[in-house]
Amino acid sequence: MTKQPQDLQIVILGAGMGGLTSALALAQQGFKNIDIYENASDLGFVGAGIQLAPNMARVLDGLGVWKGIEAEAVNIEDTSVREGATDKEHAYVDLRYIEKTYGYKHMVGHRASLANGLYEGCKKHSSIKFHFGINADNVDSFGPRPSFTAKPRAEGADPFKVECDVLLAADGIKSVTRVEMLKRLGVDVGVKDTQQAAYRIMIHKDQIKDDPELLALINSNRVTRWIGAKRHIIAYAVSNNTIYNISTTQPDTNFAAATNATYTTKGSKPAMMGVFSDFCPMVQRMLNYVPEGEVCEWKLRVHDPLPTWVHDSVALVGDACHPTLPHLAQGAAQAIEDGAVIGVVLSKLPDTTPESINKALRVYEKVRKSRAEALVEMATASGRALHLGEGAAKEERDKQFAALRAGKGPVPDKWADADVQREIYGFDCTKVAADNFNEYFSHM
Ligand SMILES: Cc1cc2nc3c(=O)[nH]c(=O)nc-3n(C[C@H](O)[C@H](O)[C@H](O)COP(=O)(O)OP(=O)(O)OC[C@H]3O[C@@H](n4cnc5c(N)ncnc54)[C@H](O)[C@@H]3O)c2cc1C
Repeated sequence: MTKQPQDLQIVILGAGMGGLTSALALAQQGFKNIDIYENASDLGFVGAGIQLAPNMARVLDGLGVWKGIEAEAVNIEDTSVREGATDKEHAYVDLRYIEKTYGYKHMVGHRASLANGLYEGCKKHSSIKFHFGINADNVDSFGPRPSFTAKPRAEGADPFKVECDVLLAADGIKSVTRVEMLKRLGVDVGVKDTQQAAYRIMIHKDQIKDDPELLALINSNRVTRWIGAKRHIIAYAVSNNTIYNISTTQPDTNFAAATNATYTTKGSKPAMMGVFSDFCPMVQRMLNYVPEGEVCEWKLRVHDPLPTWVHDSVALVGDACHPTLPHLAQGAAQAIEDGAVIGVVLSKLPDTTPESINKALRVYEKVRKSRAEALVEMATASGRALHLGEGAAKEERDKQFAALRAGKGPVPDKWADADVQREIYGFDCTKVAADNFNEYFSHM
């Protein structure tokens, strides 16, 4: 019997959002042999909130896992952009139109809830096998049979070689596959230091039970952003309004001298308080509720657009190929779109030859690359507008905020702008992939 596409051996590196979604999308399409190799010993997601935008929800719903994630999420009804130093409101945007326009509410949730929802979805398919505690190293073939060395983290366990028909590298911003791929292509696209870092913290409702102002925030359905020169804070409630999730962006000073491999560290509370010492008393009180020892700081790194995401039978997925600043809250959403599109293009393979596999993966790249990279660029631009210090550019931005308050004009915080939302939330990635597959494939 001839081998069917669904018989292909597919290996996925990384059980992050991109890897889990790729596995689930492929299993849903009937693929029978899907193996995920994950370096960590379990899912182990850092406790933090995450925005569940309609374009992400649409994909998750199509994969049958949205209902459970939605049940624990908080529906965002509006957003307020405020001056950090004074708490004066720059802009208020009603987001309730989103559900009617895009079919899904704009929600926020706990990262663990999103990851677990995807993981539980994967576990329902016997075709998906998880291999935790194994580091993929030394990708030594990209085709016709991609292969790498699997190094178990368990003491005494011997490394072994893994071969497959298709290798999907969803191994995050530090992707070893990307490095090896670029080396083979003779291209030098290094990781770029954004000179920005982020604190990610959570406060529980019982910590602020005697603070009416903060209680009002945690009980609300609002994303609030406080902005200042080179810094901002974004905050919203997650887990049925029992946790207030706070994420900051500030100039990177603590990682400045760190090696390229350092991305997160236990942050210092006094250092964090110092960064926002000129923000208003309420924001300072909010930050001060964070227990010492629970401040986590992330280095924010990106890289320039890659010349390609695909080489032979290997494709990069998610942060491995389009890491982004978080200012549009689309990093995971884009990794999830990648996974969904992978499911569509591989399911439409006319045969299982390495040539067809490469062409189908290049259709994935064609559907995904320009979109993901445009959003990376837009997130950077939005950060620039949010972080302006005194000067003509800030005056211009503040005029835009004033025009918006008067009822017209774009939102400088692009995340909240209706035209930007149309571009991001109105895009149905699986439909675009399915509708265009034949045409794109025939031209590859
Ligand atoms: C401060 C901040 C806030 C954010 N907020 C949002 C938001 O609100 N909404 C949103 O959509 N996105 C957000 N993001 C972005 C989002 O977190 C990432 O874009 C997303 O997690 C990327 O998923 P991924 O699967 O591509 O990579 P990752 O989540 O990094 O997963 C990669 C996985 O691969 C594993 N791995 C790595 N190397 C190997 C190897 N050699 N062998 C085996 N396994 C390996 C890792 O252990 C990891 O589990 C935010 C990011 C930051 C920094």
